[in-house]
Amino acid sequence: MKTTIELVLEPEQYFIEKRLRQAVAREIKINDSDINHIQVLRRSIDSRRSKIKYHVTAEVYTHSDKYKKVERCGDYKNVEHSDQVIIVGAGPAGMFAALRALELGLRPIIVERGKCVRDRKFDIARLAKEGMVNENSNWCFGEGGAGTFSDGKLYTRSTKRGNVGYVIDRLIEHGADENIAIDAHAHIGTDRLSDIITRIRKTIEDHGGAYYFDNRVTDLILDGDKVIGVKTSGGNTFEGCAVILATGHSARDIYELFDRKGWAIEAKPFAMGVRVEHPQSLINSIQYHSEDYSQFLPPAAYSLVTQVNGHGVFSFCMCPGGIIVPAATASEQQVVNGMSNSRRNSPYANSGIAVTVDIKDVPQYSKHGALALLRFQQDVEKDMFKAAGYSLKAPSQRLNDFCNGRESKRLNRSSYIAGCTTAPLHQLLPDFVVSSLQQGFRDFGNKMKGFYTESANILAVESRTSSPVRIPRNDDYEHIQLHNLYPCGEGAGYAGGITSSAMDGINCVEAIARKMGRLQ
Ligand SMILES: Cc1cc2nc3c(=O)[nH]c(=O)nc-3n(C[C@H](O)[C@H](O)[C@H](O)COP(=O)(O)OP(=O)(O)OC[C@H]3O[C@@H](n4cnc5c(N)ncnc54)[C@H](O)[C@@H]3O)c2cc1C
Repeated sequence: MKTTIELVLEPEQYFIEKRLRQAVAREIKINDSDINHIQVLRRSIDSRRSKIKYHVTAEVYTHSDKYKKVERCGDYKNVEHSDQVIIVGAGPAGMFAALRALELGLRPIIVERGKCVRDRKFDIARLAKEGMVNENSNWCFGEGGAGTFSDGKLYTRSTKRGNVGYVIDRLIEHGADENIAIDAHAHIGTDRLSDIITRIRKTIEDHGGAYYFDNRVTDLILDGDKVIGVKTSGGNTFEGCAVILATGHSARDIYELFDRKGWAIEAKPFAMGVRVEHPQSLINSIQYHSEDYSQFLPPAAYSLVTQVNGHGVFSFCMCPGGIIVPAATASEQQVVNGMSNSRRNSPYANSGIAVTVDIKDVPQYSKHGALALLRFQQDVEKDMFKAAGYSLKAPSQRLNDFCNGRESKRLNRSSYIAGCTTAPLHQLLPDFVVSSLQQGFRDFGNKMKGFYTESANILAVESRTSSPVRIPRNDDYEHIQLHNLYPCGEGAGYAGGITSSAMDGINCVEAIARKMGRLQ
Protein backbone atom coordinates (compact mmCIF):
# COMPACT_ATOMS: atom_id res chain seq x y z
CA MET A 1 0.00 0.00 0.00
CA LYS A 2 1.11 3.58 -0.64
CA THR A 3 0.01 6.25 1.85
CA THR A 4 0.77 9.97 1.74
CA ILE A 5 1.24 11.52 5.17
CA GLU A 6 2.19 14.84 6.73
CA LEU A 7 4.33 14.88 9.83
CA VAL A 8 5.75 17.47 12.19
CA LEU A 9 9.03 16.13 13.53
CA GLU A 10 11.94 17.17 15.68
CA PRO A 11 15.15 17.44 13.61
CA GLU A 12 16.59 14.30 15.24
CA GLN A 13 13.43 12.37 14.45
CA TYR A 14 13.72 13.33 10.81
CA PHE A 15 17.42 12.65 10.30
CA ILE A 16 17.90 9.47 12.35
CA GLU A 17 16.38 6.79 10.14
CA LYS A 18 15.26 4.52 12.97
CA ARG A 19 13.42 7.37 14.65
CA LEU A 20 11.82 8.44 11.38
CA ARG A 21 10.50 4.91 10.75
CA GLN A 22 9.12 4.80 14.29
CA ALA A 23 7.35 8.15 13.85
CA VAL A 24 5.89 7.10 10.49
CA ALA A 25 4.75 3.71 11.84
CA ARG A 26 3.05 5.44 14.79
CA GLU A 27 1.31 7.88 12.43
CA ILE A 28 -0.20 5.22 10.16
CA LYS A 29 -0.60 2.69 12.95
CA ILE A 30 1.48 -0.20 11.56
CA ASN A 31 4.65 -1.98 12.66
CA ASP A 32 7.79 -0.28 11.42
CA SER A 33 8.93 -3.63 9.97
CA ASP A 34 6.02 -3.33 7.47
CA ILE A 35 7.52 -0.16 5.95
CA ASN A 36 9.38 -0.81 2.67
CA HIS A 37 10.32 2.74 1.85
CA ILE A 38 9.65 6.31 2.96
CA GLN A 39 9.85 8.77 0.09
CA VAL A 40 9.97 12.36 1.32
CA LEU A 41 8.17 14.67 -1.10
CA ARG A 42 8.60 17.96 0.71
CA ARG A 43 10.40 19.24 3.81
CA SER A 44 10.63 22.63 5.43
CA ILE A 45 11.89 24.01 8.73
CA ASP A 46 9.46 25.74 11.07
CA SER A 47 11.42 27.98 13.46
CA ARG A 48 8.49 30.09 14.66
CA ARG A 49 8.33 28.43 18.04
CA SER A 50 11.05 27.74 20.60
CA LYS A 51 11.25 24.07 19.55
CA ILE A 52 12.31 23.88 15.91
CA LYS A 53 10.36 21.39 13.82
CA TYR A 54 10.55 19.85 10.38
CA HIS A 55 7.30 19.78 8.40
CA VAL A 56 7.48 16.72 6.19
CA THR A 57 5.20 15.35 3.48
CA ALA A 58 6.06 11.77 2.57
CA GLU A 59 4.82 8.73 0.66
CA VAL A 60 5.05 5.57 2.68
CA TYR A 61 5.27 2.21 0.85
CA THR A 62 4.17 -0.70 2.99
CA HIS A 63 3.70 -4.46 2.74
CA SER A 64 3.98 -5.60 -0.90
CA ASP A 65 4.09 -2.10 -2.45
CA LYS A 66 7.54 -1.14 -3.73
CA TYR A 67 8.88 2.33 -4.50
CA LYS A 68 10.04 2.96 -8.09
CA LYS A 69 12.72 5.63 -8.45
CA VAL A 70 11.61 8.59 -10.58
CA GLU A 71 13.71 8.92 -13.73
CA ARG A 72 14.76 12.49 -14.35
CA CYS A 73 16.08 12.45 -17.92
CA GLY A 74 15.26 14.83 -20.71
CA ASP A 75 14.01 13.44 -24.03
CA TYR A 76 16.77 14.99 -26.14
CA LYS A 77 16.89 14.54 -29.93
CA ASN A 78 19.90 14.74 -32.19
CA VAL A 79 19.53 18.22 -33.65
CA GLU A 80 22.74 18.49 -35.68
CA HIS A 81 20.83 19.11 -38.93
CA SER A 82 17.78 20.91 -37.49
CA ASP A 83 16.67 24.55 -37.69
CA GLN A 84 18.99 26.76 -35.66
CA VAL A 85 17.98 29.01 -32.77
CA ILE A 86 20.62 31.55 -31.80
CA ILE A 87 20.82 31.96 -28.03
CA VAL A 88 22.83 34.94 -26.82
CA GLY A 89 24.11 34.30 -23.29
CA ALA A 90 24.93 31.05 -21.49
CA GLY A 91 23.30 31.94 -18.16
CA PRO A 92 20.38 29.96 -16.67
CA ALA A 93 17.95 31.43 -19.24
CA GLY A 94 20.19 30.57 -22.20
CA MET A 95 21.22 27.11 -20.94
CA PHE A 96 17.66 25.98 -20.19
CA ALA A 97 16.39 27.39 -23.49
CA ALA A 98 19.09 25.26 -25.15
CA LEU A 99 18.21 22.08 -23.24
CA ARG A 100 14.52 22.45 -24.07
CA ALA A 101 15.43 23.22 -27.71
CA LEU A 102 16.99 19.74 -27.92
CA GLU A 103 13.69 18.21 -26.83
CA LEU A 104 11.77 20.29 -29.37
CA GLY A 105 14.08 19.30 -32.22
CA LEU A 106 15.71 22.73 -32.60
CA ARG A 107 19.47 23.23 -32.78
CA PRO A 108 20.70 25.66 -30.08
CA ILE A 109 23.69 27.81 -31.01
CA ILE A 110 24.88 29.53 -27.84
CA VAL A 111 26.90 32.70 -28.36
CA GLU A 112 28.60 33.81 -25.15
CA ARG A 113 30.94 36.76 -24.49
CA GLY A 114 32.75 34.98 -21.64
CA LYS A 115 34.72 31.79 -21.20
CA CYS A 116 33.85 28.23 -20.21
CA VAL A 117 33.56 27.68 -16.44
CA ARG A 118 37.05 26.20 -16.08
CA ASP A 119 38.79 29.19 -17.73
CA ARG A 120 36.46 31.67 -16.08
CA LYS A 121 37.71 30.52 -12.66
CA PHE A 122 41.17 31.97 -13.39
CA ASP A 123 39.69 35.41 -14.16
CA ILE A 124 37.58 35.29 -10.99
CA ALA A 125 40.67 34.45 -8.93
CA ARG A 126 42.60 37.29 -10.58
CA LEU A 127 39.74 39.70 -9.96
CA ALA A 128 39.91 39.15 -6.21
CA LYS A 129 43.72 39.05 -6.03
CA GLU A 130 44.69 41.91 -8.35
CA GLY A 131 41.49 43.97 -8.35
CA MET A 132 41.33 43.81 -12.16
CA VAL A 133 37.95 43.20 -13.79
CA ASN A 134 37.93 41.36 -17.13
CA GLU A 135 34.93 42.90 -18.92
CA ASN A 136 33.95 39.58 -20.52
CA SER A 137 34.84 37.12 -17.78
CA ASN A 138 33.89 37.92 -14.20
CA TRP A 139 31.37 37.11 -11.46
CA CYS A 140 28.46 37.76 -13.87
CA PHE A 141 29.82 36.97 -17.35
CA GLY A 142 30.90 33.61 -18.73
CA GLU A 143 29.45 30.10 -18.90
CA GLY A 144 26.54 29.70 -16.48
CA GLY A 145 26.15 33.48 -16.29
CA ALA A 146 25.59 35.10 -12.91
CA GLY A 147 24.28 31.73 -11.69
CA THR A 148 27.66 29.91 -11.72
CA PHE A 149 29.47 31.40 -8.76
CA SER A 150 26.23 32.14 -6.98
CA ASP A 151 24.62 30.77 -3.89
CA GLY A 152 22.52 28.47 -6.04
CA LYS A 153 19.32 29.09 -4.13
CA LEU A 154 16.50 27.73 -6.25
CA TYR A 155 13.50 29.11 -4.42
CA THR A 156 11.23 31.24 -6.60
CA ARG A 157 7.93 32.99 -6.07
CA SER A 158 7.24 32.88 -9.82
CA THR A 159 5.79 29.37 -9.75
CA LYS A 160 2.97 30.31 -12.13
CA ARG A 161 5.40 31.46 -14.82
CA GLY A 162 6.59 28.00 -15.72
CA ASN A 163 7.49 24.50 -14.70
CA VAL A 164 9.78 24.64 -11.65
CA GLY A 165 9.85 20.81 -11.53
CA TYR A 166 11.31 20.67 -15.04
CA VAL A 167 14.22 22.92 -13.99
CA ILE A 168 14.83 20.92 -10.81
CA ASP A 169 14.76 17.61 -12.73
CA ARG A 170 17.27 18.86 -15.32
CA LEU A 171 19.60 20.04 -12.53
CA ILE A 172 19.39 16.64 -10.79
CA GLU A 173 19.93 14.91 -14.15
CA HIS A 174 23.17 16.87 -14.45
CA GLY A 175 24.44 16.10 -10.95
CA ALA A 176 22.59 18.20 -8.36
CA ASP A 177 21.66 16.55 -5.08
CA GLU A 178 18.20 14.95 -5.17
CA ASN A 179 17.24 16.87 -2.04
CA ILE A 180 16.67 19.97 -4.19
CA ALA A 181 13.43 18.28 -5.28
CA ILE A 182 12.10 18.15 -1.71
CA ASP A 183 13.53 21.18 0.10
CA ALA A 184 11.19 24.15 0.39
CA HIS A 185 14.27 26.40 0.11
CA ALA A 186 16.54 24.30 -2.09
CA HIS A 187 20.18 25.29 -2.48
CA ILE A 188 23.04 23.90 -4.57
CA GLY A 189 26.19 25.90 -3.73
CA THR A 190 28.83 27.29 -6.02
CA ASP A 191 31.25 24.34 -5.63
CA ARG A 192 28.66 22.00 -7.18
CA LEU A 193 27.22 24.41 -9.75
CA SER A 194 30.32 24.60 -11.92
CA ASP A 195 30.28 20.82 -12.57
CA ILE A 196 26.54 20.81 -13.23
CA ILE A 197 26.90 23.63 -15.75
CA THR A 198 29.74 21.86 -17.51
CA ARG A 199 27.64 18.68 -17.76
CA ILE A 200 24.72 20.64 -19.23
CA ARG A 201 27.08 21.90 -21.96
CA LYS A 202 28.14 18.32 -22.66
CA THR A 203 24.49 17.24 -23.10
CA ILE A 204 23.89 20.14 -25.48
CA GLU A 205 27.02 19.48 -27.53
CA ASP A 206 26.53 15.69 -27.55
CA HIS A 207 23.11 16.20 -29.17
CA GLY A 208 24.32 18.54 -31.89
CA GLY A 209 24.02 21.97 -30.23
CA ALA A 210 27.04 24.31 -30.22
CA TYR A 211 28.71 26.84 -27.90
CA TYR A 212 30.79 29.79 -29.10
CA PHE A 213 32.67 31.35 -26.18
CA ASP A 214 34.61 34.64 -26.39
CA ASN A 215 31.96 35.99 -28.76
CA ARG A 216 30.41 39.24 -27.52
CA VAL A 217 27.32 40.12 -29.51
CA THR A 218 27.49 43.72 -30.67
CA ASP A 219 24.62 43.94 -33.15
CA LEU A 220 21.57 42.19 -34.56
CA ILE A 221 21.31 41.25 -38.23
CA LEU A 222 17.97 42.42 -39.64
CA ASP A 223 15.98 41.64 -42.73
CA GLY A 224 13.42 44.47 -42.63
CA ASP A 225 11.93 44.23 -39.13
CA LYS A 226 12.88 40.53 -38.80
CA VAL A 227 15.93 39.52 -36.79
CA ILE A 228 17.84 36.81 -38.64
CA GLY A 229 21.05 36.68 -36.65
CA VAL A 230 23.74 38.41 -34.59
CA LYS A 231 27.19 39.90 -35.12
CA THR A 232 29.98 39.67 -32.59
CA SER A 233 32.90 41.89 -31.65
CA GLY A 234 35.34 39.54 -33.39
CA GLY A 235 33.45 39.93 -36.69
CA ASN A 236 31.63 36.56 -36.52
CA THR A 237 28.01 36.23 -37.58
CA PHE A 238 25.46 33.61 -36.50
CA GLU A 239 22.13 33.17 -38.25
CA GLY A 240 19.02 31.20 -37.31
CA CYS A 241 15.24 31.11 -37.45
CA ALA A 242 15.02 33.06 -34.17
CA VAL A 243 17.27 34.84 -31.67
CA ILE A 244 16.84 34.48 -27.90
CA LEU A 245 18.49 37.42 -26.18
CA ALA A 246 19.41 36.20 -22.67
CA THR A 247 22.25 38.53 -21.77
CA GLY A 248 21.44 39.19 -18.10
CA HIS A 249 21.01 42.43 -16.16
CA SER A 250 24.63 43.51 -16.42
CA ALA A 251 24.90 43.55 -20.24
CA ARG A 252 24.82 47.32 -20.41
CA ASP A 253 26.23 47.36 -23.95
CA ILE A 254 23.06 45.57 -25.13
CA TYR A 255 20.83 48.26 -23.60
CA GLU A 256 23.07 50.93 -25.17
CA LEU A 257 22.74 49.17 -28.55
CA PHE A 258 18.94 49.19 -28.35
CA ASP A 259 18.93 52.84 -27.26
CA ARG A 260 21.28 53.87 -30.07
CA LYS A 261 19.29 52.02 -32.73
CA GLY A 262 15.93 53.26 -31.44
CA TRP A 263 14.66 49.71 -30.72
CA ALA A 264 12.05 49.62 -27.95
CA ILE A 265 13.31 49.44 -24.34
CA GLU A 266 11.82 50.89 -21.13
CA ALA A 267 13.13 52.04 -17.76
CA LYS A 268 12.21 49.45 -15.13
CA PRO A 269 12.06 49.92 -11.34
CA PHE A 270 14.75 47.97 -9.52
CA ALA A 271 16.27 48.01 -6.02
CA MET A 272 19.51 49.25 -4.49
CA GLY A 273 21.10 49.00 -1.08
CA VAL A 274 23.92 47.35 0.78
CA ARG A 275 25.02 43.88 1.85
CA VAL A 276 24.81 43.31 5.58
CA GLU A 277 27.03 40.73 7.24
CA HIS A 278 26.57 39.18 10.69
CA PRO A 279 28.32 36.31 12.41
CA GLN A 280 26.39 33.18 11.37
CA SER A 281 26.34 32.05 15.02
CA LEU A 282 24.37 35.19 15.90
CA ILE A 283 21.78 34.55 13.16
CA ASN A 284 21.53 30.90 14.29
CA SER A 285 20.90 31.90 17.87
CA ILE A 286 18.25 34.45 16.84
CA GLN A 287 16.42 32.17 14.42
CA TYR A 288 16.73 28.96 16.40
CA HIS A 289 16.08 30.71 19.74
CA SER A 290 19.12 29.24 21.44
CA GLU A 291 22.88 28.93 21.00
CA ASP A 292 22.49 25.25 21.73
CA TYR A 293 20.57 24.31 18.59
CA SER A 294 20.52 20.87 17.03
CA GLN A 295 23.42 19.64 14.89
CA PHE A 296 20.74 18.54 12.41
CA LEU A 297 19.74 22.09 11.52
CA PRO A 298 21.38 23.97 8.63
CA PRO A 299 22.88 27.45 9.15
CA ALA A 300 19.85 29.68 9.70
CA ALA A 301 18.48 32.00 7.04
CA TYR A 302 16.11 34.97 7.28
CA SER A 303 13.77 36.87 5.04
CA LEU A 304 12.78 40.39 6.04
CA VAL A 305 10.60 43.05 4.51
CA THR A 306 9.22 46.41 5.59
CA GLN A 307 7.84 49.64 4.12
CA VAL A 308 9.49 53.01 4.73
CA ASN A 309 7.96 56.20 3.28
CA GLY A 310 6.52 54.43 0.26
CA HIS A 311 9.68 52.41 -0.38
CA GLY A 312 9.87 48.66 0.02
CA VAL A 313 12.96 47.65 2.02
CA PHE A 314 13.73 43.94 1.87
CA SER A 315 16.37 41.30 2.34
CA PHE A 316 17.60 39.88 -0.93
CA CYS A 317 19.68 36.81 -1.79
CA MET A 318 20.40 35.91 1.83
CA CYS A 319 23.44 33.60 2.05
CA PRO A 320 23.78 31.64 5.31
CA GLY A 321 27.37 30.45 5.82
CA GLY A 322 28.37 32.43 2.74
CA ILE A 323 30.84 35.04 1.59
CA ILE A 324 30.58 38.44 -0.05
CA VAL A 325 32.03 38.80 -3.55
CA PRO A 326 32.89 41.63 -5.95
CA ALA A 327 30.30 41.51 -8.75
CA ALA A 328 31.46 44.43 -10.92
CA THR A 329 31.49 43.77 -14.67
CA ALA A 330 33.77 46.62 -15.77
CA SER A 331 36.45 48.87 -14.36
CA GLU A 332 35.51 51.80 -12.10
CA GLN A 333 32.49 50.02 -10.64
CA GLN A 334 31.97 48.86 -7.07
CA VAL A 335 29.28 46.17 -6.70
CA VAL A 336 28.83 43.50 -4.03
CA ASN A 337 26.84 40.27 -4.02
CA GLY A 338 26.80 37.06 -1.97
CA MET A 339 27.38 33.37 -2.53
CA SER A 340 28.05 30.18 -0.61
CA ASN A 341 29.27 26.67 -1.16
CA SER A 342 27.12 23.58 -0.75
CA ARG A 343 28.06 23.12 2.93
CA ARG A 344 27.40 26.75 3.80
CA ASN A 345 30.22 26.56 6.29
CA SER A 346 31.70 30.06 6.44
CA PRO A 347 31.30 31.76 9.84
CA TYR A 348 29.33 34.62 8.24
CA ALA A 349 25.74 35.25 7.21
CA ASN A 350 25.23 37.92 4.55
CA SER A 351 22.25 39.35 2.75
CA GLY A 352 21.48 42.17 0.38
CA ILE A 353 19.20 44.74 2.01
CA ALA A 354 17.68 46.72 -0.83
CA VAL A 355 15.36 49.69 -1.30
CA THR A 356 12.99 49.90 -4.27
CA VAL A 357 13.98 52.56 -6.80
CA ASP A 358 11.53 54.13 -9.24
CA ILE A 359 12.04 56.91 -11.75
CA LYS A 360 10.11 59.29 -9.44
CA ASP A 361 12.89 58.86 -6.85
CA VAL A 362 15.53 60.17 -9.25
CA PRO A 363 13.76 62.78 -11.43
CA GLN A 364 17.14 64.35 -12.31
CA TYR A 365 17.83 61.22 -14.42
CA SER A 366 14.61 61.31 -16.46
CA LYS A 367 16.45 63.10 -19.28
CA HIS A 368 18.11 59.75 -20.03
CA GLY A 369 14.78 58.22 -21.06
CA ALA A 370 14.75 54.42 -20.99
CA LEU A 371 18.30 54.41 -19.58
CA ALA A 372 17.43 56.74 -16.67
CA LEU A 373 17.65 54.12 -13.92
CA LEU A 374 20.67 52.47 -15.55
CA ARG A 375 22.51 55.83 -15.46
CA PHE A 376 21.57 56.26 -11.80
CA GLN A 377 22.84 52.74 -11.04
CA GLN A 378 26.10 53.46 -12.91
CA ASP A 379 26.68 56.74 -11.04
CA VAL A 380 26.23 55.18 -7.60
CA GLU A 381 28.57 52.28 -8.49
CA LYS A 382 31.18 54.79 -9.65
CA ASP A 383 30.80 56.88 -6.47
CA MET A 384 31.34 53.74 -4.37
CA PHE A 385 34.45 52.89 -6.39
CA LYS A 386 35.82 56.36 -5.58
CA ALA A 387 34.86 55.97 -1.92
CA ALA A 388 36.98 52.82 -1.81
CA GLY A 389 40.03 54.75 -3.06
CA TYR A 390 39.54 53.62 -6.68
CA SER A 391 39.80 49.97 -5.76
CA LEU A 392 37.56 46.92 -5.46
CA LYS A 393 37.61 47.22 -1.68
CA ALA A 394 34.10 47.65 -0.38
CA PRO A 395 33.22 50.94 1.32
CA SER A 396 31.87 49.69 4.64
CA GLN A 397 30.47 50.77 7.97
CA ARG A 398 29.24 49.12 11.12
CA LEU A 399 25.49 48.68 10.96
CA ASN A 400 24.70 50.74 14.07
CA ASP A 401 27.11 53.52 13.03
CA PHE A 402 25.37 53.77 9.64
CA CYS A 403 21.95 53.98 11.27
CA ASN A 404 23.16 56.63 13.76
CA GLY A 405 24.92 58.68 11.09
CA ARG A 406 28.48 58.39 12.40
CA GLU A 407 31.67 57.11 10.83
CA SER A 408 33.03 53.76 11.93
CA LYS A 409 36.48 53.89 13.46
CA ARG A 410 36.81 50.14 13.21
CA LEU A 411 35.03 47.47 11.18
CA ASN A 412 34.11 43.93 12.17
CA ARG A 413 35.88 41.08 10.40
CA SER A 414 34.34 40.34 7.03
CA SER A 415 34.28 37.54 4.46
CA TYR A 416 34.51 40.01 1.56
CA ILE A 417 37.33 38.68 -0.54
CA ALA A 418 38.61 42.00 -1.90
CA GLY A 419 38.75 43.64 1.56
CA CYS A 420 36.75 46.42 3.26
CA THR A 421 37.56 50.05 3.86
CA THR A 422 35.70 52.28 6.29
CA ALA A 423 33.52 54.94 4.62
CA PRO A 424 30.62 57.19 5.73
CA LEU A 425 27.95 55.41 3.68
CA HIS A 426 25.24 57.46 5.41
CA GLN A 427 26.69 60.45 3.53
CA LEU A 428 27.76 58.76 0.31
CA LEU A 429 24.69 56.76 -0.74
CA PRO A 430 21.63 58.57 -2.19
CA ASP A 431 19.55 60.23 0.58
CA PHE A 432 16.35 58.24 0.00
CA VAL A 433 18.32 54.98 0.03
CA VAL A 434 20.04 55.97 3.30
CA SER A 435 16.87 57.03 5.15
CA SER A 436 14.95 53.97 3.97
CA LEU A 437 17.77 51.63 4.98
CA GLN A 438 18.24 53.30 8.38
CA GLN A 439 14.56 52.87 9.28
CA GLY A 440 14.43 49.46 7.60
CA PHE A 441 17.32 48.15 9.71
CA ARG A 442 15.60 49.40 12.88
CA ASP A 443 12.36 47.66 11.86
CA PHE A 444 14.28 44.46 11.15
CA GLY A 445 15.90 44.75 14.60
CA ASN A 446 12.41 44.81 16.12
CA LYS A 447 11.33 41.77 14.11
CA MET A 448 14.53 39.80 14.75
CA LYS A 449 15.94 40.71 18.17
CA GLY A 450 19.70 41.00 17.88
CA PHE A 451 19.79 41.71 14.13
CA TYR A 452 20.40 45.43 14.71
CA THR A 453 23.86 45.24 16.25
CA GLU A 454 27.35 46.70 16.22
CA SER A 455 28.62 43.21 15.37
CA ALA A 456 27.36 43.58 11.79
CA ASN A 457 28.98 45.44 8.89
CA ILE A 458 27.28 46.85 5.86
CA LEU A 459 29.14 46.88 2.52
CA ALA A 460 28.23 48.95 -0.54
CA VAL A 461 26.78 48.77 -3.02
CA GLU A 462 24.15 46.11 -3.69
CA SER A 463 23.01 47.53 -7.02
CA ARG A 464 22.53 44.52 -9.34
CA THR A 465 19.36 43.22 -7.75
CA SER A 466 17.44 43.14 -11.02
CA SER A 467 17.52 44.90 -14.36
CA PRO A 468 16.93 48.67 -14.44
CA VAL A 469 15.78 48.30 -18.07
CA ARG A 470 13.07 46.16 -19.69
CA ILE A 471 13.22 44.92 -23.30
CA PRO A 472 9.47 44.71 -23.91
CA ARG A 473 7.85 41.71 -25.57
CA ASN A 474 4.33 40.65 -26.54
CA ASP A 475 2.27 37.74 -25.20
CA ASP A 476 4.09 35.43 -27.61
CA TYR A 477 7.44 36.37 -26.00
CA GLU A 478 8.59 38.29 -29.13
CA HIS A 479 10.01 41.79 -28.96
CA ILE A 480 7.19 44.29 -29.58
CA GLN A 481 8.97 45.73 -32.62
CA LEU A 482 11.56 43.25 -33.90
CA HIS A 483 10.16 39.93 -35.12
CA ASN A 484 11.94 36.67 -34.31
CA LEU A 485 13.72 38.33 -31.39
CA TYR A 486 12.91 36.83 -27.96
CA PRO A 487 14.12 39.06 -25.07
CA CYS A 488 14.61 36.56 -22.25
CA GLY A 489 15.52 36.14 -18.60
CA GLU A 490 16.67 38.69 -16.08
CA GLY A 491 18.24 41.06 -18.58
CA ALA A 492 14.97 41.46 -20.44
CA GLY A 493 13.26 42.30 -17.15
CA TYR A 494 11.04 39.21 -17.13
CA ALA A 495 12.75 37.11 -14.47
CA GLY A 496 14.89 37.38 -11.36
CA GLY A 497 16.96 34.53 -10.02
CA ILE A 498 18.20 31.23 -11.37
CA THR A 499 14.95 29.26 -11.48
CA SER A 500 12.70 31.97 -12.91
CA SER A 501 15.32 32.85 -15.54
CA ALA A 502 15.64 29.19 -16.50
CA MET A 503 11.84 28.93 -16.80
CA ASP A 504 11.78 32.05 -18.96
CA GLY A 505 14.35 30.48 -21.28
CA ILE A 506 12.13 27.42 -21.61
CA ASN A 507 9.06 29.61 -22.27
CA CYS A 508 10.87 31.53 -25.01
CA VAL A 509 12.06 28.46 -26.91
CA GLU A 510 8.62 26.86 -26.58
CA ALA A 511 7.11 30.05 -28.07
CA ILE A 512 9.51 29.69 -31.03
CA ALA A 513 8.54 26.03 -31.46
CA ARG A 514 4.84 26.98 -31.34
CA LYS A 515 5.34 29.64 -34.00
CA MET A 516 7.05 27.02 -36.17
CA GLY A 517 4.18 24.58 -35.62
CA ARG A 518 6.36 22.11 -33.65
CA LEU A 519 4.40 22.50 -30.43
CA GLN A 520 0.68 22.95 -29.76
C1 LIG B 1 27.13 36.35 -6.74
C2 LIG B 1 25.71 36.07 -7.17
C3 LIG B 1 24.92 35.22 -6.40
C4 LIG B 1 23.61 34.91 -6.79
N1 LIG B 1 22.90 34.01 -6.06
C5 LIG B 1 21.68 33.61 -6.51
C6 LIG B 1 20.97 32.59 -5.84
O1 LIG B 1 21.43 32.02 -4.86
N2 LIG B 1 19.76 32.25 -6.33
C7 LIG B 1 19.20 32.85 -7.42
O2 LIG B 1 18.09 32.48 -7.81
N3 LIG B 1 19.86 33.82 -8.06
C8 LIG B 1 21.09 34.20 -7.64
N4 LIG B 1 21.77 35.17 -8.32
C9 LIG B 1 21.11 35.79 -9.47
C10 LIG B 1 21.11 34.84 -10.66
O3 LIG B 1 22.40 34.39 -10.89
C11 LIG B 1 20.54 35.54 -11.88
O4 LIG B 1 19.22 35.96 -11.58
C12 LIG B 1 20.48 34.62 -13.09
O5 LIG B 1 21.76 34.11 -13.37
C13 LIG B 1 19.95 35.36 -14.32
O6 LIG B 1 19.96 34.48 -15.40
P1 LIG B 1 20.05 34.98 -16.92
O7 LIG B 1 20.35 33.78 -17.71
O8 LIG B 1 18.84 35.77 -17.22
O9 LIG B 1 21.26 36.01 -16.97
P2 LIG B 1 22.80 35.83 -16.57
O10 LIG B 1 22.97 34.73 -15.61
O11 LIG B 1 23.25 37.18 -16.18
O12 LIG B 1 23.50 35.37 -17.91
C14 LIG B 1 23.69 36.23 -18.99
C15 LIG B 1 24.80 35.69 -19.87
O13 LIG B 1 24.88 36.48 -21.04
C16 LIG B 1 26.23 36.74 -21.36
N5 LIG B 1 26.30 37.98 -22.13
C17 LIG B 1 26.06 39.25 -21.69
N6 LIG B 1 26.19 40.12 -22.70
C18 LIG B 1 26.51 39.41 -23.80
C19 LIG B 1 26.77 39.77 -25.15
N7 LIG B 1 26.73 41.04 -25.56
N8 LIG B 1 27.11 38.79 -26.02
C20 LIG B 1 27.17 37.48 -25.61
N9 LIG B 1 26.92 37.10 -24.33
C21 LIG B 1 26.58 38.05 -23.44
C22 LIG B 1 26.91 36.84 -20.00
O14 LIG B 1 28.29 36.60 -20.11
C23 LIG B 1 26.18 35.77 -19.21
O15 LIG B 1 26.81 34.53 -19.30
C24 LIG B 1 23.08 35.50 -7.96
C25 LIG B 1 23.87 36.38 -8.73
C26 LIG B 1 25.16 36.65 -8.34
C27 LIG B 1 26.01 37.58 -9.18
